[in-house]
Amino acid sequence: MWYRMKRGPIMLSSKVTLSMIIMLGARTLAPQIPPQAPLRSKRIVLAASAVLDGKGRVMQDIRIVIEGSRIVAIDPKAGPVDYDLRGLTVLPGWIDAHVHIAWSFGKDGKNGGPGGTPEEVAYQVASNAWVTLMAGFTTVQSVGSPADFPLREAIANGLLPGPRILTSGEPLMGQGEKTGTPEQIRAYVRKQRESGADLIKIFANYSVRRPELMLSQAQLNAACDEARKLSLRTLVHAYKDAVRAAIVAGCTEIEHGVLASDDDLKLMAERGIYLDPQAGLVWENYLLNKERFVGTPGYPDTLEGFAGMEKLIPMYREFMKRALKIPGLKIVFGTDALAGSHSRNAEEFIDRVRDVGVDPMAAMVSANFLGAEALGMANEIGSIAPGLEADVIALDGDPLKDITAVRRVVFVMKGGVVYKNVARGL
Ligand SMILES: [Zn+2]
Repeated sequence: MWYRMKRGPIMLSSKVTLSMIIMLGARTLAPQIPPQAPLRSKRIVLAASAVLDGKGRVMQDIRIVIEGSRIVAIDPKAGPVDYDLRGLTVLPGWIDAHVHIAWSFGKDGKNGGPGGTPEEVAYQVASNAWVTLMAGFTTVQSVGSPADFPLREAIANGLLPGPRILTSGEPLMGQGEKTGTPEQIRAYVRKQRESGADLIKIFANYSVRRPELMLSQAQLNAACDEARKLSLRTLVHAYKDAVRAAIVAGCTEIEHGVLASDDDLKLMAERGIYLDPQAGLVWENYLLNKERFVGTPGYPDTLEGFAGMEKLIPMYREFMKRALKIPGLKIVFGTDALAGSHSRNAEEFIDRVRDVGVDPMAAMVSANFLGAEALGMANEIGSIAPGLEADVIALDGDPLKDITAVRRVVFVMKGGVVYKNVARGL
């Protein structure tokens, strides 16, 4: 199930000389790549009639003033207007707390399948980033793959269009004793930090049907404690008893969480631990693409095996309903987007609102301010306010009245650069 990108040969162009390589090795060269960030206008004014500020408030008839990558003012009289977004719903770019941005169908059409050249694989990953951005997601947390690192850098340097990426790189897979001693696990966490990980992803057990613990309490404690010392967040894939173990270890966020007890959920709320449950997209995607997943690592070997998956959907939804009732529990928006569902991340909003009964405004906030807070980035992204990054999207429709409006993203700005501005039909 845990697809790793194959590493291709390192190719050097004929212009790269031996002395350049030596200098690169010594890290003495000035940056090799000139900045190619998309051109940013000095000042941009957006006119909007309905704005969700990301924190649960609605602003009406305002203008958003942007300079460089940031919002500098909310001023109803600012002008001249560069983009007229009146009649649309304007809100901060969405944040997806849980994606696998590098996971794709291979050239053979199968999940993580072989056959593609390194260039084909790289373009596929770049495409995942592009379609995610076009769907209104301006920041994603990938959990994760080593292939995320160069993608993160290319996007951050303006070389490729895509969402801002935070990544765990290779996750820590619980494998019982084989995972290592607590000291070895601490060393692994330090190594991940050195490799550039923004967070640590940990698998404490396998699935809702195989919930036996794959890490001891001492092992989990070591992982979360070492990460905390390095100011890294820990996201723990956990079901049933593993949820309690991850809470006790002091992790930052629980992924999935199904079969956790109400007491576990209350303890999470008390300790400010975020919960990232799913209401449907990930399963809908498996069922939609079952021929492409069948027989690939981590998935059922027969098509009949997918029938069991269908039965899990109500279990996930019941769990989220129960979690919603826990006062103060912080539920973030994470889709588990992977092969087949990149670009359809927003379908998870529809599942949450339609099938679980999440309040539409709470659904938006879970992918805006709350999502940013969970990343430790609430001062940077997730709200529309002066001083924050200009990540702004617009929907044709009002998601508070019709949640399917999340499918109609007609404007996308990230860091002050407009990547999408689709003319409205008559
Ligand atoms: Zn996942």
